[in-house]
Amino acid sequence: MNRDNIITLPNKHLRQRSKKVFEFNNHLHKLIENMKSATIDWEDHRNHEIGVALAAPQIDVLERAIIVRDNLENKDDKGFTALINPSIVKKLGEPVEDFEGCLSVCDLYGKVPRYPKVKVEASTLDGKKVRLTAEGFLARIFQHEIDHLNGIVFIDHIKDRDAFYQLSPEGELIKVDHNEIIKSDILWN
Ligand code: ZN
Repeated sequence: MNRDNIITLPNKHLRQRSKKVFEFNNHLHKLIENMKSATIDWEDHRNHEIGVALAAPQIDVLERAIIVRDNLENKDDKGFTALINPSIVKKLGEPVEDFEGCLSVCDLYGKVPRYPKVKVEASTLDGKKVRLTAEGFLARIFQHEIDHLNGIVFIDHIKDRDAFYQLSPEGELIKVDHNEIIKSDILWN
């Protein structure tokens, strides 16, 4: 798969809840491979961004699976870890606002409040149960991706509708007029 398989708003499938995975079979392995290749192809066509994670609904498969990049700093390291049926079992600290973007929300960024630390339970690709604690950016990624499995997109958390940004050709975030976004129909239809 490639970047064209990634669905974007206003596709309504991004607003649906994904189903729990019960079978850890070849279909699941193939799904994860497709998610990785789509993310890497997307990233190969972006100058200033890195594809840090993806949720299955973003390639239009409503199953509870996500991939998270092993090395969040280095674009050359293409390793990802798959987590199946991930859920946040504990949120710690007070929410902190920071910028987020999404492969399914074209060229739009915004400041989203997220918990600074979360405990996550999930299964590995071979069905083994794991429990992990994530902090900072990684905690933010888990909250963003698990939201996708519940049909929630990061823009839903942005209360201040003026708090949207776009990336300039030079890679800088520039504030955008919310009215322009509404007119363009990129988020809502
Ligand atoms: Zn996303």
